[in-house]
Amino acid sequence: MLENLERFTRLKRDIAQINVDPLQRGGILTPEARAALLEWGDGYSICDFCAGMLDRIRNPPVEEFVHSVLPEFLDTDEVRVTHGAREGKFAAMHSLCQKGDFVVMDGNAHYTSVLAAERAGLEVEYVPPSKEPDYAISAEGYAQAIERAYERKGDVTLALLTYPDGNYGNLPDARAIADICHDYNVPLLLNGAYSIGRMPVRARELGADIIVGSGHKSMAASGPVGVLGASEEYARIIFKPSATKKNKEVELLGCTVRGAPLITLMASFPAVVERVGRWQKEVENARWFSEEMEKMDLVQVGDRPHNHDLMFFLAERLYQISQTAKGGRYFLYREMKERGVCGIKPGLTRQFKLSTYGLACQELERVINAFSEIIQSHEKDEKGDKGEKREKKREKGKRS
Ligand SMILES: *Cc1c(COP(=O)(O)O)cnc(C)c1O
Repeated sequence: MLENLERFTRLKRDIAQINVDPLQRGGILTPEARAALLEWGDGYSICDFCAGMLDRIRNPPVEEFVHSVLPEFLDTDEVRVTHGAREGKFAAMHSLCQKGDFVVMDGNAHYTSVLAAERAGLEVEYVPPSKEPDYAISAEGYAQAIERAYERKGDVTLALLTYPDGNYGNLPDARAIADICHDYNVPLLLNGAYSIGRMPVRARELGADIIVGSGHKSMAASGPVGVLGASEEYARIIFKPSATKKNKEVELLGCTVRGAPLITLMASFPAVVERVGRWQKEVENARWFSEEMEKMDLVQVGDRPHNHDLMFFLAERLYQISQTAKGGRYFLYREMKERGVCGIKPGLTRQFKLSTYGLACQELERVINAFSEIIQSHEKDEKGDKGEKREKKREKGKRS
């Protein structure tokens, strides 16, 4: 097994010019971050001048970034860097809740929210989304879920809202949900994995007591890296110092991101702040794209008009084509790739999600044209086939 290991070196990525994978659109590095990745790639590179606390390192300027810049960006009191959104959610749940407590979360929640709760020994009470095609999450649903948890003799010590969710890209009314949670004295954790770094998100304004973001998902960082913010009241508990190890915070196991991923987050940050300011244009692009898709009978579900770049489509027409196409259900992936577009999961045709984030208008047109060409070429084939068969039948009829 330890022979021929060369195959692990010089690995290449196989991606098309345009990648519409929602998971990856917001994590593409800026040129500055790409250079920083090389410069700081060595293990523990960030620790040259560390005096014991990662977030207090001054050279490179981590302290300023974590303690001044990020709290202002997120509009919250205290921030720490984590390995990702999931680690932030777990740290909050583990420190704020007792085993057996209830966490109330939206039914569109990411699987990592559920696993974080499971790992922290918590029960989950869901807020069910409305039926298809909206999948909407309401503030009233939170009140009902909290009441249901009480009926089950539970202590509800945390609520979580996915903002937006990773399936439909729906943005619920966070402020209204926060207000309901606060009526019950339940703090709200806002999961901004798909929003922080893409669109303006201000924790205080939205009423979020705790907030998490994902660097590799939405902040143009290589990752794994994320941000965890909290208001003073909860920061005190989440970031409690160790009783035995001076200057180390228990929930973070002392230090979190100890090298290049954090530096890439910092290096792309100016560009991230700028792009957040251009969010309205991104929403316009997404809406334009959705309209063009619908002209081809590919139906966008979730919020309409849509308010986010992540969109979910029902594509019965592509599914029908896959029934007879060469390559079966893989035809779409292959034919999109031939046209310079990747990011729709191989094998999916009937429903899929994609993101328009950060793509120029011409690139979006290219994606739309790819769909259009694929549909036309197959449906023409089909008509052609049928036409031919009909022709043959007629000839047969003539002969007999
Ligand atoms: C991607 C995603 C996550 C996971 O983010 P990590 O930073 O990789 O932990 C969590 N929640 C949502 C809604 C996501 O889309």
